[in-house]
Amino acid sequence: MRLNRRDNHIFSLCLSPQRSALAEPVEASAECETAVCGTAKESCAGVDVVLVALAGLLLGALLNLVIIRLPREQGLGGWPRCTRCGQRLRWWQIIPLFGWLLQGGRARCCGRRLDALYPLVDLVTVATLVLLYLQHRLSISMVYSAAVAAVLIVTGAIDWQHRLIYTLPTLGATLAVVLVAFSVPFHSLLNALAGVFAAGVLFVIFYLLARLLFPAHRAPFGLGDVYLGMFIGAALGLTNLPGALLYGMLLAGVFSAILVARRRLGRRDVPQYISYGTFLCIGALIYLLMWGLAGPRPLL
Ligand SMILES: [Zn+2]
Repeated sequence: MRLNRRDNHIFSLCLSPQRSALAEPVEASAECETAVCGTAKESCAGVDVVLVALAGLLLGALLNLVIIRLPREQGLGGWPRCTRCGQRLRWWQIIPLFGWLLQGGRARCCGRRLDALYPLVDLVTVATLVLLYLQHRLSISMVYSAAVAAVLIVTGAIDWQHRLIYTLPTLGATLAVVLVAFSVPFHSLLNALAGVFAAGVLFVIFYLLARLLFPAHRAPFGLGDVYLGMFIGAALGLTNLPGALLYGMLLAGVFSAILVARRRLGRRDVPQYISYGTFLCIGALIYLLMWGLAGPRPLL
């Protein structure tokens, strides 16, 4: 069977350090070319992917630590404690993803419900790292995209839980991606700066409109969303900004429509506002995983 370019790329998984991110994929029927492995490509690829998935679990645990502790103004050191009662956790309770599953979603210490967001963060981080590895292997593109994804996951999760986007970390991450943009394939300093500028102007207009339209209420669109937009603009560049924002806005629109429908049906537990930043993060992450920084391109 002849695979198209993208499929072939996805299925060529051998760890091949000399291969760059832009290298042509190997043929699907070939054996692993590396002297390290020498086995059939599929089994070699399996070991690679399992290792990357384990790294994803560890990264997910680290991101969850930031998601839990940053809004509580706690440092990252010290043994983890229950998010509900503050008791010191047992070793098996802190195993990424499985700790939550083993407890059945309820803290073993106090019996209170644990937020499903934490295992979701673990899952999304694992899936993100594995997909990035399949597309880029170990390369600058993979490391850069994983770092951008980590910022998006943490920002989206904290905004979902607390409706809060931090100014300094978000602007710091924006500056960091601008500074390294020149070294990333399909990216450039100019593309990053143009992305910051375009997103900044667009989101300041959104922000002012939200202040005008909702003067008496807490505005559904805050300055944090402006900073997040600038980060997405810098990280993905002007060339990918419209697509990434479109995905996020479509997702936010669908979710808002579901909330309105539930309110019309008489549900009272429907929130007044959505965490807009969360959807911008999800949209940018989906875009990054689907297209990368090269942007949409023909599959054949
Ligand atoms: Zn507890």
